[in-house]
Amino acid sequence: MDMNTIEAVVRTEDPAEWRDGDAWLAGGTVLFSYGSLAFGKEPLRRLLDLGSAGWPAVTVTDAGIELAATCTVAELYALPGSAAADRDTAWPALDLVRPCCDSFVASFKVWNMSTVGGNLCTSLPAGPMTSLCAALDGVATVLGADGTSRTVPVADFVTGDGRNCLAPGELLRKVHLPASALAARVAFRRLSLSNLGRSGVLLIGRLDADGTLVLTVTAATKRPVQLRFPATAAISAAALIEALDAAIPAELYHDDIHGLPAWRKDMTYRLAEEIRAELASPAGVPPARVSGDFWPPQRKSPQHGSPQSTVTSQASPQQEGA
Ligand SMILES: Cc1cc2nc3c(=O)[nH]c(=O)nc-3n(C[C@H](O)[C@H](O)[C@H](O)COP(=O)(O)OP(=O)(O)OC[C@H]3O[C@@H](n4cnc5c(N)ncnc54)[C@H](O)[C@@H]3O)c2cc1C
Repeated sequence: MDMNTIEAVVRTEDPAEWRDGDAWLAGGTVLFSYGSLAFGKEPLRRLLDLGSAGWPAVTVTDAGIELAATCTVAELYALPGSAAADRDTAWPALDLVRPCCDSFVASFKVWNMSTVGGNLCTSLPAGPMTSLCAALDGVATVLGADGTSRTVPVADFVTGDGRNCLAPGELLRKVHLPASALAARVAFRRLSLSNLGRSGVLLIGRLDADGTLVLTVTAATKRPVQLRFPATAAISAAALIEALDAAIPAELYHDDIHGLPAWRKDMTYRLAEEIRAELASPAGVPPARVSGDFWPPQRKSPQHGSPQSTVTSQASPQQEGA
């Protein structure tokens, strides 16, 4: 879409240059498809282009993984088995990366342009980069115009449908995924109303080394909801229902063309129970039920085969050359 109110495109990653009527430009897949009137009350006048920031897309250290805000979905998809290859065994949660990218059902053009930061800052309930980073206890670094820097847990970054914690002009610089979360066993479930449709419900479970179960609900709700059960809780199916009841009031379930709130709620409970049961079983035991259309490859044990699915797996859009 033409953005015919734009007077200038400025290449900068300096928040001090931001002024009213500006928008940070990352991949542009939202900005150029929604147009310049969609962001705020006034039409946009300048785009501050992050394209020449030169931030390394992915940095892997012993402390974890740092994703630049400008890391594209395609660059993230390439992460498992590349720079982090030697850590795949130590970091089973890397298995979440590709299903989360696959959940971003879009054409290869969108995959190659759209960024982790742009996805978080667009703050749609179905933002799969929000799902991934929130589930892994990601911490966002945000830069302010006055030279300040603050950190925000990604689980708190998105505050509602299309809303987030950024003040005008603030720049999301990067997201840190801690090694402790990457070392956890994980389970992934996603449902959409249509084949290769936008996520209606996306849940990720994480079983930490100390036995803590962390369940992150996204897409079903207007903002991420995270439940933590300490190892001592020995969480039962009934206790899980009780915790979901307490954490998610009816009005927090999202309502749009991609799913009615009542359906999203039902499916949240169903997928949460599947995740609870999967992570309560010993590692390597195939889950009894896997609803949805994408899931991480199951780590093979000699005794067990692939998980059973209620829905056939789909090739990702870029594999199909969509
Ligand atoms: C066909 C299609 C399918 C899509 N499917 C999905 C989907 O399934 N789920 C979903 O969530 N979205 C989807 N989108 C929307 C969009 O593509 C994504 O949200 C994408 O991740 C946005 O990233 P971007 O880099 O292109 O953002 P941009 O368009 O560059 O920016 C989006 C917004 O974020 C702000 N912004 C960008 N980077 C920063 C930063 N570092 N700091 C502060 N503000 C920043 C911009 O100013 C703008 O307001 C889809 C879009 C298309 C066209």
